[in-house]
Amino acid sequence: MSKKTEQTSISELGEFGLIDRITKDIKVKNSSTVKGVGDDAAILDFKEKQVVVSSDLLTEGVHFNLMYAPLKHLGYKAVVVNLSDIYAMNAEPKQITVSIAISSKFSVEAIEELYSGIHLACETYGVDLVGGDTTSSLTGLTISITVLGEVKKDDAILRSGAKPNDLLCVTGDLGGAYMGLQLLERENEVFKVNPDLQPQLAGYDYILERQLKPEARKDIVEAFRKMEIKPTSMIDISDGLSSEIKHLCKNSNVGCNLFEEKIPMDEQTKAMAEELNINPLVAALNGGEDYELLFTISLDDYEKIKNDPDFTIIGHITEASEGANLVTAAGSAIPLEAQGWNHGK
Ligand code: ADP
Ligand code: MG
Repeated sequence: MSKKTEQTSISELGEFGLIDRITKDIKVKNSSTVKGVGDDAAILDFKEKQVVVSSDLLTEGVHFNLMYAPLKHLGYKAVVVNLSDIYAMNAEPKQITVSIAISSKFSVEAIEELYSGIHLACETYGVDLVGGDTTSSLTGLTISITVLGEVKKDDAILRSGAKPNDLLCVTGDLGGAYMGLQLLERENEVFKVNPDLQPQLAGYDYILERQLKPEARKDIVEAFRKMEIKPTSMIDISDGLSSEIKHLCKNSNVGCNLFEEKIPMDEQTKAMAEELNINPLVAALNGGEDYELLFTISLDDYEKIKNDPDFTIIGHITEASEGANLVTAAGSAIPLEAQGWNHGK
């Protein structure tokens, strides 16, 4: 894989030897972790807090491509995408378990590289790796991560609380991860035809990072607390804005107007879209993997967020009968479902 140094086969070390290698340096950070790795099960104690749990399963060839995703980044991202789900509940992630199925093409060093990313994410977000499972697979790599978090009773924010007249808001900018992926795929195709050509990635560091090393919005959940804002509903953007808005509307039994012109996009996202002849709106609405937070707030909270650069108000909630619509720059409303917004500008 990434290193040219001598590689150790996993069979040489054995399953237990491997588990030992990848877990030996773990230092527990959270008081809720009573017992981490090393017994038949971990022991956790959340006292009076409520526990939130979420899992994700990633398979090689479907969710990631090791031709361009470095193993360390993959480990980091696999953790981050799980943490994002916990923040989207307005909760704090505290522990993860990581289970892997590995084929014989992976060396001990390759798995250590994967775990260096996993450990880095745990450090960055203050999360303990408390267990997992290790097994072999016939082909490729599968990673399953479960994250546990805590939230004060009644603080959790669900997808179901949006009310008509609430403001629809999003953090950060959208479409970058998708455009980063398009760029990596283009360069990978070039590489397959001519391995001597250097990839043309210069000037696109931001969208590449959005794809390869995304971050979860821990800062936003902390900001809500400081600003004394409790969104009425929230969801993280893993599948694209369009799909997440539809989830919010369906779960809250409301409609919405989303304003095309308000959707925040970075300059690199737009530039790459232009280079590849893609409407950047497609990347923001349907691209996915942005891991930003989409939420609704009551109009009463408008003053608190209106000047905050972390947030963009992109629309408002309406009655369910009005449906979920994209209001184009020209002023026409297109149902989000129909995807008729792809009107090539
Ligand atoms: P068991 O036989 O009970 O499944 P294992 O030998 O698989 O136990 O695991 C020993 C310890 O190492 C347990 O605490 C388990 O949670 C942890 N563990 C196993 N595989 C992993 C992994 N891939 N990542 C992190 N911890 C792991
Ligand atoms: Mg086991």
